[in-house]
Parts: sequence; C-alpha cells; structure tokens
Amino acid sequence: MAEVKKIAVIAGDGIGPEVVAEAEKVLNKTEELFGYKFETEHGLFGGIAIDEKGTPLPEETLQLCRNADAVLLGAVGGPKWDNNPKELRPETGLLGIRKELGLFSNIRPAVIFDCLMEASTIKPEVLKGTDLIVVRELTGGIYFGEKFRRDSANGQEAVDTCVYNVSEVERIVRQGFEIAQKRRKKLASVDKANVLETSRLWRETVNRIAPEYPDVELEHVLVDNCAMQLLRRPSSFDVIVTENMFGDILSDEAAMLTGSIGMLSSASLGEGSFGLYEPVHGSAPDIAGQGLANPIATILSVALMFRLTFGYEDAADSIERAVKQVLDAGHRTADIAADRTKALSTVQMGEKILQAMTK
Ligand code: NAD
Repeated sequence: MAEVKKIAVIAGDGIGPEVVAEAEKVLNKTEELFGYKFETEHGLFGGIAIDEKGTPLPEETLQLCRNADAVLLGAVGGPKWDNNPKELRPETGLLGIRKELGLFSNIRPAVIFDCLMEASTIKPEVLKGTDLIVVRELTGGIYFGEKFRRDSANGQEAVDTCVYNVSEVERIVRQGFEIAQKRRKKLASVDKANVLETSRLWRETVNRIAPEYPDVELEHVLVDNCAMQLLRRPSSFDVIVTENMFGDILSDEAAMLTGSIGMLSSASLGEGSFGLYEPVHGSAPDIAGQGLANPIATILSVALMFRLTFGYEDAADSIERAVKQVLDAGHRTADIAADRTKALSTVQMGEKILQAMTK
C-alpha cells in the first residue's frame, strides 16, 4: 500500500476555486491509475478568509499547511479587498504563508508546447525545445536588506542594502544542483560577480560545492548576459539558479517565452521535500465565475508537486503527457484559442486532460 500523502488544498479567491477543482480531479485520477494515496483537506486563505475569519491567513490554515506534506494553492486577491488596510489584504497573507512555512526558493518552469509556439513573441526556431526551470532565492538579498534615506550634499539619497550569508547561498544552490540532477544535468548559476561582493560570495560558494555534484555541468553566467541569452538561446538552458532580485526579473522574462499566463506552474520550497505549489497567475477577477479560466497551470503545478515533493515521476509524466496530447489535438481554453467561439470551458478542459491521462 502506498503511503498516504497529506495535501492542504487552499483554493482562495476569484478563479482559484475553479482551477483547483480541476487539479483535485487529477489527484483522484492519479490514485486510480497509479495506486498513490492522497488525503486532501481544505483551508481558507486570502479574501475569503478575511470575509469569514477576519484575517487573510487564519491560524488553522497555517496549522493545516504545517501538518501537510505539500500545499496546493489557487490564487488570492480581488478588487473587493484592494482598499483594505495592509493587515487585511490578501497579499499580506501570501507573504505571511511563505515566511511561516520557511519557503526559501521559488521554482518556475518555462516549457514550450510546440503547438502553442505562435502564442509567443519569440521566433519558433529560437524557442523550439525550450524546457527550463528558474530557481530563485526568496528570502534574502536586496528586497530584505536594510533600507533608509539620508541627506547628502546633493540632496536626499536612498540606500538599499543587499546581504547574503554563506548558508543562505548554499541551501538554494544545492537545491539548484539537485533539481538539475533530476533533469538534463546542466546548471547555470547567475550572478554579477564582476561588480557585486554578494555575487562574489555566491560564486565562491557555488564553486566550493560543485565538486559534490560531478554529474552536473556548471556554467557561471553574468545576469545581464543571461537576460540576453534567454532570448537568444533559451533551449540551451536546463536549470538556472540565482539570487532574489535577479530571479524575480529573469523568471518573468523566462515565463513570457511561453506566451500564456494560464499555462505556467510554480513551486515554493523549504527544507526537505515540503513545498507549496500554485499557478503563476492571480485570481483573474475579470473572468471569475464564468468557466473561462484555463486550469492547465494549476494541473501542471500538481505534476511539479509529484516530481519535487513526492518523487512520483510516473504520475508527473502522465499529467504532462496528457496536457501535451490535449493541446496537440487542438483543444483550447479561451485565453489560448485562436477561435474563441470554439474554446472549451474550465471543466471541459479538465475533463479532456483526465481522459488523456494514462499509466
Ligand atoms: P491575473 O494573473 O489574475 O490576471 C491577468 C490577466 O490574465 C487577466 O486578464 C486574467 O483574466 C488572465 N488570466 C490569468 N489567469 C488566467 C487563467 N488561468 N486562464 C485564463 N486567463 C487568465 O493578474 P492581475 O489581474 O494583475 O491580478 C488579479 C488579482 O490576483 C489581484 O488581486 C492580484 O493581487 C492577485 N494576484 C494573486 C497572485 C497569487 O495568488 N499568487 C498572483 C498574482 C496576482
């Protein structure tokens, strides 16, 4: 009997519940096909939690996540809560959950589906074969360093400090190496070591631990060069590991190679195998409740969970194969359809993917 894996399911707001419902059907289908066992429990988070519990991140939701092996999250937010004070905003809950669960890295795959190449702004011959992951450090660097203003001879000046210690660098870089080991075994470590001291420490640390991963081919790439190479030769990258701000920018750039936000999955990982998995997109209030949302990003987030937290490679492959097959057969939700009148609803797309899943 397979060990029962506990998954905390947090649907959130807007299209969150619609796309998460389809992803849960995929979990059920995986149990049926592969014999894995999941126990799902639902928690309130975001705007709906503000309405029902008076806080975006209720203690019982946090406890639910802490007791789980992985978290599946839809999306939070919406105009209803936009003018709330900071502590009563859904985004405050997002920052809180990452901090409370010790999630220090953000993983974003960018995979090109051949049949959707026309949705990208980049030429097909450049894009072909692109399948990369950006691993971004999430809790350190310039976003979290000391910030202040002071007077100077030339008027007011502002200071942001960028701080990284060896252990912060080491844990994220190890994660990069380990993910590369499970893929095509290539790691690009991105820094600005020609200028920044934090980057020089980063590079020293990477070089010190690289011999522990002799099967992984390592390249160091300066961040400005990486921004160019992502547009010039995206298919040559496998795993990119980088610090917080560089990763913020490069992961958005890499995401846009693929063309559609409804297709992009993501993971935030902590120590061990625990992870929070969610689509990159938000709660899309403009289309919520209309059955228009593309569930693929959330369904692919389940595949990512199977790969990174549970090591269920067969089930992850099954989901990714099914998505590709459905797209190759020409099925589209409205956001990726050339002819919107023929587009599938959220539930219809979910059904197609379930039908295409095989062992
Ligand atoms: P968004 O990603 O929700 O929507 C941007 C555009 O993409 C919209 O036109 C939307 O209809 C479309 N879109 C997004 N996901 C789609 C899908 N699965 N299928 C089809 N179309 C899709 O970004 P936004 O409009 O800037 O933000 C809306 C709300 O979501 C805000 O309250 C924001 O704070 C929140 N948000 C939450 C998260 C999160 O929960 N992690 C992330 C980003 C934004």
